[in-house]
Amino acid sequence: MSAADVTDATPAADPAGGVVIVVAMAAEAAGIRAQLGLDGRGAVLHPAFPARWWSTAALDDPITVVTNGVDPDFGVDSIGTQAATTTTLHAIERFTPRVVLSAGTCGGFAARGGAIGSTYLATEVRRHDRRIEVDGMREMMRADEGVLEAAGIASELGIGVGPVTTSDSLDAPPLDLARMTEVGAVAKDMEAAAVAWVCRRHGVPFQACKVVTDLVDDPEQTQVQFLRNLAAASDRLAEIVPSVATALLRHTST
Ligand code: SAH
Repeated sequence: MSAADVTDATPAADPAGGVVIVVAMAAEAAGIRAQLGLDGRGAVLHPAFPARWWSTAALDDPITVVTNGVDPDFGVDSIGTQAATTTTLHAIERFTPRVVLSAGTCGGFAARGGAIGSTYLATEVRRHDRRIEVDGMREMMRADEGVLEAAGIASELGIGVGPVTTSDSLDAPPLDLARMTEVGAVAKDMEAAAVAWVCRRHGVPFQACKVVTDLVDDPEQTQVQFLRNLAAASDRLAEIVPSVATALLRHTST
């Protein structure tokens, strides 16, 4: 067990390279960390932000988990694209990973074969909420942020693939829904496209692994479905994310 596992203090040595797994909520990360033997409160990623990190730093190819942490003003997990952006930026600059994985829960779509517990890697990752009718800006706001091709990994692990789309809202108003339908989204989340955007700027390969907690096209309220299925989806993340991370390391080894 490294110092990062048990203390808030900055460990003597940071992990270098390997894979960084960016997770929004503590509950989503708990099982993944347990599978990787990463316990404790985690270390502070940056003094101005609540994000935490843990790492299997003893390995040649470290697997580092970062969470966005608990918002100091509101006492809840720092979900959404702002925290995802700063966490990813700080983690990439500090740990220079070879590949980054955004892991967490998502909304799914029964119309496109989704069910509670369905698991996906991304074929593309976009925002579904950004609309501006100005040339150039329209394209920037709607762009695919880019993913590492991972169809092989997905079929090896028995995972689905498809477009992942992101916004800062748990609900799905009609204009957002129209965009998700247009791109054929299989997963709707609140972080992936922001993580991918930072990766693109840094030239670091990106993937997303998302497990469905709720169906966007189900009449039952999203937050009710989400809370009912969060524990089971987190168990599924624990089962699959370490395998995805290892496969991504193999895929990107030089
Ligand atoms: N009330 C909840 C809020 C969770 S927000 C709580 O704090 O317990 C939803 C989180 O899960 C986000 O980090 C997002 O990435 C993911 N998520 C799950 N289902 C989603 C959906 N239908 N739409 C958007 N994000 C979703």
